[in-house]
Amino acid sequence: MKQLNECRVLVTANSYGKFNPSLKIELENQVKEVIYNKTGKPLSSQQVADFLPGIDGYIAGLDDIDKKALLAADTLKVIARYGVGIDKVDLQAASEKGIIVTNTPGANSASVAELALSMILTLARKVPYAVKALQNGEWPRLPGWTLEDKTIGIIGLGAIGKHLVKRLSAFNCHLMAYDPYADHIFAQKYDITLVDLPSLIANSDVISLHVPVLDETRGMVNEKFISEMKNGSILINTSRGELVDEKALIEGLQSGHLRGAGLDAFNKEPPDTDNPLLSMSQVICTPHLGAQTDGATNNMGRMALDECLRVLQGEKPLYQVN
Ligand code: NAD
Repeated sequence: MKQLNECRVLVTANSYGKFNPSLKIELENQVKEVIYNKTGKPLSSQQVADFLPGIDGYIAGLDDIDKKALLAADTLKVIARYGVGIDKVDLQAASEKGIIVTNTPGANSASVAELALSMILTLARKVPYAVKALQNGEWPRLPGWTLEDKTIGIIGLGAIGKHLVKRLSAFNCHLMAYDPYADHIFAQKYDITLVDLPSLIANSDVISLHVPVLDETRGMVNEKFISEMKNGSILINTSRGELVDEKALIEGLQSGHLRGAGLDAFNKEPPDTDNPLLSMSQVICTPHLGAQTDGATNNMGRMALDECLRVLQGEKPLYQVN
């Protein structure tokens, strides 16, 4: 087995070390050579194949790492994905070649939870509406909410849902969650009432979605769901656009049934400029920026670097996915 200082590492994740240059220095000091992707974009399968000969470790952005690309890997031991998604890596082809694939679970969870929290607070105080009103020369007195005594319903109590709970626990609100695989110990620790979905929908002042897209969650926020939400409640979606029927949401907002919505994900991204959600003063729309923070970037870089070096030194990685 090669010594670490004989290894060559390919880094294609464009933001690797962007906020923390010491991650680059640390890697460069430990291995023989580091080759960076200077295209500013994810690599195509052919580009990956061109880079791979003689590479031992690969800190990978959203490149097409398919079977064809992996044919060119002659010394590759590890693909350390910089991020959670592994859909662009042919895991079977990697396993067949004895290449370990890792990812960085949880690296951006706190960032997404903070975005959800910021949307909840901002909509509770009708800030988007207030900003527009003031810009139009008005000086309205708006009926804001405190979160104290409100019920926040979290659908999906996984990595992001748990980070949101930890932050919300400072606000003296009631926490409710629906997750068929909920962590009961965590729920007990943070005084979360675990309920079924209809109870959560009917009793929450704010509903925040933190589930993946699955057959049972795709389009879950439909006309029926929205009509069963409490009058004057808020919907937050920092997960995936596929979870929400936007037409039904628009109707729920236009009718005044919902107080507002915070959306970081859309049916179509970017949404069409005439999508009514973009121009509603009770809606906050952001361009899928939940994970785009210095903290998340640094976490991904740190975790991917550690995983890559672990494997190159013959140790077991913490987050192997194949
Ligand atoms: P996670 O896998 O840690 O948690 C998901 C939770 O959903 C799990 O606890 C699971 O048991 C639960 N779940 C599964 N099926 C369910 C169902 N039918 N009903 C209720 N709960 C169910 O995932 P995560 O890291 O917390 O991510 C949550 C979502 O956030 C994902 O959709 C992910 O794509 C999205 N996300 C968005 C951004 C962004 O930039 N806005 C960034 C990262 C992740």
